[in-house]
Amino acid sequence: MMKDEDAGAAVSASLARGATLASVVAAGPVGGAALANAAGGAALAGAVGGAAVGDQRKPEWLKVRLASGQVAASVGATLRKHGLNTVCDEARCPNKAECWGQATATFMVMGAVCTRGCRFCAVATAKEGETLDPSEPDELASAIVELGIRHAVITSVDRDDLPDRGAAHFAACIRAIRARDPSIGIEVLAPDYHEGEIELLLEAGPDVFAHNIETVERLQSVRDARAGWQKSLHCLDLASSWAAKHGGKPFVKSSILLGIGESPSEVHSTMDALRVAGTSILVMGQYLRPTARQIPLVEYLPPATFAEYGEVARSKGFASVVSSPLARTSYHARSAFADIGAAAPATAATATPTAVTPAAAAASTTATATATPSLPPKAAP
Ligand code: SF4
Repeated sequence: MMKDEDAGAAVSASLARGATLASVVAAGPVGGAALANAAGGAALAGAVGGAAVGDQRKPEWLKVRLASGQVAASVGATLRKHGLNTVCDEARCPNKAECWGQATATFMVMGAVCTRGCRFCAVATAKEGETLDPSEPDELASAIVELGIRHAVITSVDRDDLPDRGAAHFAACIRAIRARDPSIGIEVLAPDYHEGEIELLLEAGPDVFAHNIETVERLQSVRDARAGWQKSLHCLDLASSWAAKHGGKPFVKSSILLGIGESPSEVHSTMDALRVAGTSILVMGQYLRPTARQIPLVEYLPPATFAEYGEVARSKGFASVVSSPLARTSYHARSAFADIGAAAPATAATATPTAVTPAAAAASTTATATATPSLPPKAAP
């Protein structure tokens, strides 16, 4: 298990390698989208004593190939045919070659312009989003069926400019997929919907409800000022409370971006807070600065550190964990869902998980696994 001192040493080592925290630049959100969010400028520098490694050469484990080949090309053609956006493109996800090469993608509905401006995110931002396209739910369902996707992940931009912040349209997308093929698994990565909005989405019956806490409590200032620690935990709690009253569905998921100045103890506390809010699937991945307009990263965490964090998460009761440098909320989403489904056929809260050994956890930094919960599950009120 990683200790705080070890992480401190890792940060010191990255500082010793030399980069200075040159400039901290504001940028935009992935809102509900990818696993993302970083720490704000001066706060970020102060958090770790000040150096950024964002412009240094990427370590070997983060080098990826460009998306190419026939399968990836057909994904692109299908998206164009149906006029759909993906977070893979809009957030410049490093896993596009792998995911599109396997004919999967994460769809981003309600346009490609987000009304929030998180500082780690590459999605375009403006005060108002695009006009909603009433044909989008059907086009989305058609594309998913044509691509043969069995576990569809749908996210959206934040739509603070709409009265229901887009919840009804998002729900219509879920219903359109269900109507086309009820056997397709549906995972939504949603904005921080309020009470009254979140029910619209949950009533449509997603299998997984994801909302990202993004980072530790101290570094939440990297998110748009309208987002935040308490709001995100409340949103997750609303979803898990709903699940407790509806047969354990949906499973609740969240993600943490690492490498922006957080300490191990802060990551552990974030895991605890997510468990208390009823989260049962956790993703942890390395923040990668999408462009020079986003905040710099502080350190590259090695794969072994992700394996250690994964082990800690399992010991804290997360039934499914994806922890690796390139992990994003939607990365390996189908297998993460399959794992928790196998572990908890009735409800996430009442799962009887199988133990995973530290050796097994360390053997695969991207594997999902089950573990004995150490925190009490959320009970139906
Ligand atoms: S990890 Fe998610 S966002 Fe990234 S390419 Fe794969 S499906 Fe797209």
